[in-house]
Amino acid sequence: MTHTSVAAYAAPAPKAPLERITIPRRALGAHDILIEIKYAGICHSDIHTVRAEWGDGGNFPIVPGHEIAGVVAEVGAEVTRYRAGDRVGVGCFVDSCRECENCRAGLQQYCTGDLGMVGTYNATGRDGETTHGGYSTHLVIDENYALRIPESIPLDAAAPLLCAGITLYSPLAHWKAGPGRKVAVVGLGGLGHMGVKIAHAMGAEVTVLSQSLRKKDDGLRLGADHYYATSDPATFEQLAGTFDLIVNTVSADLDLNAYVGLLRTDGTLVQLGAPERPLPVAPFALIPQRRSIAGSMIGGIPETQEMLDFCGEHGLAADIEVISADRINEAYERVLASDVRYRFVIDASTI
Ligand code: NAP
Ligand code: ZN
Ligand code: ZN
Repeated sequence: MTHTSVAAYAAPAPKAPLERITIPRRALGAHDILIEIKYAGICHSDIHTVRAEWGDGGNFPIVPGHEIAGVVAEVGAEVTRYRAGDRVGVGCFVDSCRECENCRAGLQQYCTGDLGMVGTYNATGRDGETTHGGYSTHLVIDENYALRIPESIPLDAAAPLLCAGITLYSPLAHWKAGPGRKVAVVGLGGLGHMGVKIAHAMGAEVTVLSQSLRKKDDGLRLGADHYYATSDPATFEQLAGTFDLIVNTVSADLDLNAYVGLLRTDGTLVQLGAPERPLPVAPFALIPQRRSIAGSMIGGIPETQEMLDFCGEHGLAADIEVISADRINEAYERVLASDVRYRFVIDASTI
């Protein structure tokens, strides 16, 4: 088996700036497709990972990137789903066991098999090799783990749908955001701005809860009906007991108890942000009003395709700032400062 060498951007060590390197991509297997990557979004999870904030040390050098949009360049001998020239996306995982109950139900992100969900980067694949993500020029992937990007969505604005889009679509669909339902989106960043667009398109009444009113005009333009600053204590009094569903996309510590108080009876707060430390919850925030706190992770292959098709039909995509690869480190600093409207996307031709 011969590998190909391709250019990529990697973090050589925890917290070190990313730099250009060369990585191997496996030879095309019978069911593999070779993707020429056109764009890769910068997700806050990329930053948590290269800063080793999730505690597992990590397999450095790490090539992040799990919001990938590109074009099929070549297909393996037995590939049936794709042809050269097709527009495709890759999200947060590239393989799973395919046999467990969850994989059979299309919930590959919750694979309980030995392989588990094989992350697009910083994971160990079936072949025992470390996976490398989308901050690179090419990717080889099993055809069953790729997605089809609708013609109506430009590839650069489609890339962030592969993580930010599905991460919001899945809980919004599961907890039935729709007409007559009041949904709050906490944090207007990459995930949050897709949450506003998708919840609005599903027909829900959408409220943004942001640290300040700095992005209020944007929030309303994206589809929010209401916009409040969480820095103002009056917000929590005014909105007490209001929401059926709150999706929390904040990447930092937050007092969940204050937000749970905004749920109505039987309401659910879905935790999507993954900060480094635990978030304490007071029993008496949940007990009265039978409130719930839940978690949700990206979405499976069928639901990710459903999300892409939904976005295609509703004219939805990410609001992006396209950057060249030499600006990745600068973009990371801006994401950390909440200075992103609303997703940085790397132009892979500059790698
Ligand atoms: P992002 O673009 O940085 O957005 C996060 C938003 O959180 C910011 O725009 C900001 O919104 C708010 N925020 C940041 N720091 C804050 C603070 N100290 N206090 C209050 N609010 C703060 O990040 P992202 O890419 O959307 O990712 C968000 C989180 O979701 C990350 O932790 C990421 O790892 C996680 N994630 C989870 C999944 C999943 O499957 N569950 C998938 C992808 C990402 P405002 O400026 O509006 O306040
Ligand atoms: Zn992500
Ligand atoms: Zn499985």
